Amino acid sequence: MPGACVFCKIAAGEIPATMVKGGDGMLAFRDLNPQAPTHVLVIPTDHLASLNDAKDPRLLGGLLAFAREVARAEGIAERGYRVVVNTNPDGGQTVFHLHLHLLGGRPMKWPPG
Ligand code: 5GP
Ligand code: ZN
Repeated sequence: MPGACVFCKIAAGEIPATMVKGGDGMLAFRDLNPQAPTHVLVIPTDHLASLNDAKDPRLLGGLLAFAREVARAEGIAERGYRVVVNTNPDGGQTVFHLHLHLLGGRPMKWPPG
């Protein structure tokens, strides 16, 4: 339920977060528990539970372009970064409001755990 969703509350300004970028129905803010020197979450401000629920490919493209802009602004675009969308339990999703993780500032390992 969107009213109880932590990322909806961040989007509404009801709970604090360190904002990075906003606009066009999207928001980027720093992860509370960063897994890399840069760890930013990119969300649509409207609630969608997961990637499975995002029907609009323009929204998905917009989120990806938004994450790329944040990567540039964070100064990690050239060295490289990773964008991750954990989806449902096997994907490791814990917050059920669609979000992209933008991770960078260190070399990433492959395969992921
Ligand atoms: P998931 O596991 O669903 O892919 O990622 C959820 C992410 O949200 C986690 O990396 C977690 O640290 C982050 N997170 C959870 N609650 C909050 C919060 O209240 N504020 C912020 N900034 N990040 C949060
Ligand atoms: Zn939400």
